[in-house]
Amino acid sequence: MSASEGSSVLAPLELSELMVGVLRESGEVVIANAAFRELAERDGRPLREHLVTEHARLAPGHSSVSDLQLQRSDSSAVTIRWHVARYDTPDGGLLAIGEDVTESRETESKLADRALRDPLTGLPNRTLLADRVSQALAAAQRRDEPCAFIVFDLDGFKQVNDDFGHDAGDEVLRQIGPRLGALLRESDTLARLGGDEFTVLLPPPADLVSALVAAEKVRTAFASTYTAAGADVSVGASVGIALFPQHGRDAATLLRAADVAMYSAKRTGAGVAVYDHSLDLGSVAGSARLAELKEAIAGGELRVVYQPMVRLGERRVTGAEALVRWLHPRLGMLHPAAFLPLAERTDLMVQLFECVLDDAMARCAQWRDDGSSAGVSVNLSVRNVLDPAAPAVVARSLLRYGLEPSVLTLEFNERELGREPHRLERALRDLADTGVRLALDDFGTGDISLRTLRALPIHEIKLDRALIATLRSDPDSRSFVRTGIAVGHDIGLEVVAKGVEDSGTLALLGRLHCDVGQGNLFAGPVESRELTAAVADVERTGRAGD
Ligand code: C2E
Ligand code: MG
Repeated sequence: MSASEGSSVLAPLELSELMVGVLRESGEVVIANAAFRELAERDGRPLREHLVTEHARLAPGHSSVSDLQLQRSDSSAVTIRWHVARYDTPDGGLLAIGEDVTESRETESKLADRALRDPLTGLPNRTLLADRVSQALAAAQRRDEPCAFIVFDLDGFKQVNDDFGHDAGDEVLRQIGPRLGALLRESDTLARLGGDEFTVLLPPPADLVSALVAAEKVRTAFASTYTAAGADVSVGASVGIALFPQHGRDAATLLRAADVAMYSAKRTGAGVAVYDHSLDLGSVAGSARLAELKEAIAGGELRVVYQPMVRLGERRVTGAEALVRWLHPRLGMLHPAAFLPLAERTDLMVQLFECVLDDAMARCAQWRDDGSSAGVSVNLSVRNVLDPAAPAVVARSLLRYGLEPSVLTLEFNERELGREPHRLERALRDLADTGVRLALDDFGTGDISLRTLRALPIHEIKLDRALIATLRSDPDSRSFVRTGIAVGHDIGLEVVAKGVEDSGTLALLGRLHCDVGQGNLFAGPVESRELTAAVADVERTGRAGD
């Protein structure tokens, strides 16, 4: 029994890596094995100091454990773990047994690291983020300084996965950390929340301006293409910002607020959005605004304005786009950005569409009575497209006003297509079956493939306003617009340019054979009763072609 006990203690002693020594209180080594002596010869002073000072308070008969860091001659680090016991004798020396734990320490720290980092990108994961967030919030609170949260997710990432496979998608995700890391400050924490969703924590002091600067850095990280599967792929990012303390005081509230803002940035195509209570269904202001909107729809507070669309070759107004406004009793005329993101998250969007459609059909019927053949365009949201009742609603409305289906164009945003392309495509087909025209709005903001473009039951593409705004100054926009027009014509689509603001751009669009223009150069959105005058003005001055 005692022999086996003895051998279990002594056996490791025979292994040369164990260092065993007996020291006096002064640090003098009394007895030691070869390994201990070897170490004491090289690192005698640090070794003795460590053992004596670390264990100075050790009571007789007790033992404790401590780690000593030393350097090898190649300057790599070694960790020796010392088990030290104090003799229960009047002179109270120390028995020290040391083992090299460098490798197991590395494994331990790797394991700990793995639990805190996202395995794909190596970026901090939610757990590590939560830790940094609580530190940041505590510091912000203590110092009475603001801090900021950014949440972003990728636009067009699904397309990369679809076109090049998931490995290529992973390759893109892995490149984000290094690219964005080089732009952000060292103190900022970039973490992956999961999927293609990331967050940046800006520690205090970080106010709205610093958050907007960081958001721009995020956008910059996506300005040039990524390399995946040997190809150059482009992805974008939609960025949401939430600030401590105005948008929340705890991590969960702030992350949620940044997420709501990110969703709004994506939906409106703005790219970057700051959290806004009134657009958040979950906030008191948001649910109050929603209740107001419900009453506004029922009480007829919605207004529809119309913006002429001009056929460039003939300088003739061929239609008008219906754009919704809310005449709010206190806040005045509200633009869609102030309430559509909210409506879009509830069934109110269905009622809103029916309301706008009814106004548009009634006006169009009136224009017919006045002798005009102008058509009308109405915007659809995703919810409207996916509403199974939508084709019947449209057909009923046409019937009610005695209009041919071809007078109505329903616009649908390209950006939204990425989400559920097949389901949306089927729903669009049901709408097209009613005989109405369909337009792909904000063309150039999504990442639709040529194959999908050909497969969609559409009649028109509307080039995004940002492309038209930079048409003359940016060769990339020009080349995109030129290609868009050529491809559109090739598959029999009509091409509309939105946001035409100056005659130079108009002339260039003419040279590129764009079919139709819409923008403030001709006329902004006007009340229906002013439309006739606006149309006469466009056609009389011939501004459309000069
Ligand atoms: P959109 O379909 O791209 O509509 C064109 C927007 O560009 C309108 O903004 C219009 O006022 C603006 N615009 C037109 N010409 C110019 C120009 O030359 N320069 C500039 N800077 N802007 C110009 P609005 O009315 O604020 O509408 C914003 C968006 O809201 C629309 O974008 C559309 O996506 C959505 N929307 C509007 N009405 C409805 C609706 O009834 N239903 C749905 N689902 N969405 C709507
Ligand atoms: Mg539109």
